[in-house]
Amino acid sequence: MTADASTPTTEARTQSFEADVSRLLHLMVHSVYSDRAIFVRELVSNAADACEKLRYEAIAKPELIEDGAPFAIEIAINPDAKTLTFSDNGVGMTREDLTQGLGTIARSGTKAFLDKLAADDASKEAAALIGQFGIGFYSSFMVADEVVVDTRRAGASEAWRWSSDGKGSFTIAPLALESAPKRGTRVILHLNDEAHEFAEPRRLERIVREHSGAVAVPIDLIEKLGAEKRRIGDGAAIWAKPKSDVTAEEYTEFYRGLSGQFDEPALTLHWRAEGRHEYTVLAFIPGSRPFDLFDPARKGRNKLYVRRVLITEDADLLPGWLRFVRLVVDSADLPLNVSREMIQKSDVFAAIRKGVTNRVVQELGKLAEAEPEKFAKVWEHFGPVIKEGLYEDPERRDGLFKIARFISTTHPAGDRTLAQYVASLRENQTAIFYLTGDDAKRLAASPQLEGFKARGVEVLLLADPVDAFWVSTAAGFDGKPFKSVTQGAADIKSIALVEGADAPAEATGEVATLFAFFKQTLGDEVAEVRASDRLTDSVACLIAPEFGPDRQLEKMLAAHGRIAERMKPILEVNPTHALTKALAGRFKEGKDKPLIEDAAWLVLDEARLMEGASVEDPPAFAARLRRVMEKALAIAG
Ligand code: ADP
Ligand code: MG
Repeated sequence: MTADASTPTTEARTQSFEADVSRLLHLMVHSVYSDRAIFVRELVSNAADACEKLRYEAIAKPELIEDGAPFAIEIAINPDAKTLTFSDNGVGMTREDLTQGLGTIARSGTKAFLDKLAADDASKEAAALIGQFGIGFYSSFMVADEVVVDTRRAGASEAWRWSSDGKGSFTIAPLALESAPKRGTRVILHLNDEAHEFAEPRRLERIVREHSGAVAVPIDLIEKLGAEKRRIGDGAAIWAKPKSDVTAEEYTEFYRGLSGQFDEPALTLHWRAEGRHEYTVLAFIPGSRPFDLFDPARKGRNKLYVRRVLITEDADLLPGWLRFVRLVVDSADLPLNVSREMIQKSDVFAAIRKGVTNRVVQELGKLAEAEPEKFAKVWEHFGPVIKEGLYEDPERRDGLFKIARFISTTHPAGDRTLAQYVASLRENQTAIFYLTGDDAKRLAASPQLEGFKARGVEVLLLADPVDAFWVSTAAGFDGKPFKSVTQGAADIKSIALVEGADAPAEATGEVATLFAFFKQTLGDEVAEVRASDRLTDSVACLIAPEFGPDRQLEKMLAAHGRIAERMKPILEVNPTHALTKALAGRFKEGKDKPLIEDAAWLVLDEARLMEGASVEDPPAFAARLRRVMEKALAIAG
């Protein structure tokens, strides 16, 4: 493709793509993606976005669309020239927009996408990811060896032609108005030799129907030069249709366009609220985790329409802990003639937000009850996010407690509900016991659990970062308080041992004297050394004092600089352990004082290690360990 004859070439400017864009393009062209057809979906979605943007702008400036042409997307095939042209009469682009949108990485998605590819070796899934990263336009180079974009910003008196072979640079030149679109954009793809199949009308039509069937702007196809246009997409808003008129496939398709994900939605909710405020909602819970679920800067994909005019794609329609839900809300009750920001500050908007949130939570509850297995999947993907609601939204806590699922010592699969836990409390058990940490498997091996296991007491193993926060602020569930097994007295003596478990004997006077010596030796490292009733096999563990944060919460607060100094832990020692008894015996006889001192420190360090912490003074630790080994082997002294 040579520059248009009417273009004064002197004003054309060629620029290099930024480095990351070049790398991305190289990948697009040279990797064989399983599904090259996605370029259709991406170009149609850009065209539709452009129409929706102009529809919104025209509320304030109706002159922008005074030509009266209804919004439409047109796909034209030229079988002889092997070109495909995607035209829209949307908002169009200025010279600046062209450089920004189609040339630079000011768009954060490019870099993120490349990082993701490198990290996961996920080139197979790359095609599916493109839409999530906002780099859809570049997929054109999967099928074209030359791409030309003619565009005219609505209301502007100049037009531009962007062109590139995708090999490192692009050129922008002025375009004579008579050869430019009246408003909007025309993307011309010069298909490469491997992509001629896409110039086949049946094939192209099928792709459009399959991937862009739910686009809210009508789509026409022109099969060859001079042919009549034929409507292949009706542009009807899917959410405005009655449920009975929408097929499962159409919902899935729409979900994919909305979320940029290519899985099946786990749950589709479509309802019309009537009463004080009227609005329509189409909401989806994704079938898999989006890549950026935990990214604080994650872009919302909740669309707000007012009478079918897209107000924003980033509407604050749900609390952060429901940020995985994708939805569209359309309401005639919101004002159109005020700014986006004002709309979202209105009382009506607040009422809609509340209504939508309530409904989503309610539907999650219904799913948990009616289809526990399906719900388990949802919980597996989004439970850690939903649990943020336990902390951020105390008002909804009880509702969320009903659906929350937990890993516990007796239910390692993570399908335990609090109601089930409470229904199987042991006699004399008055609290819901939990242990927090980073990793459920490691938690399951904690010494602090031994006494609970011996008594058949179930303990929740809370390993998500948010757990330490909500559990320490929640009053309890069903009248039972939450109690950390690493904090305060265990108070489980009154619960009977299960058959076959060893009874932890009371600490003898000898042992008590030993513990006093331990405390004297360890000084300020520990608040207290005392006999434990929660240990059966291990020698010792660390416990937080009764009042103050749980050990894990304290660790997280300290890591975030939220507390200056950690509280001194309590060292709990197993009074019936053979080692404890032997040390107590020696101590009574007044023998081996240095050895017993070493033992006190080693017991403390072992407890630290078991918590996943490190020893505080490695050289001292090593020296003690060596002395004890030498002693055991009778090498020295
Ligand atoms: P995304 O659509 O996710 O922003 P793309 O790579 O598909 O990413 O498009 C890049 C940008 O180029 C768009 O954000 C938009 O600003 C601009 N653009 C692309 N196609 C069109 C079009 N047909 N009309 C107007 N602007 C467009
Ligand atoms: Mg796009």
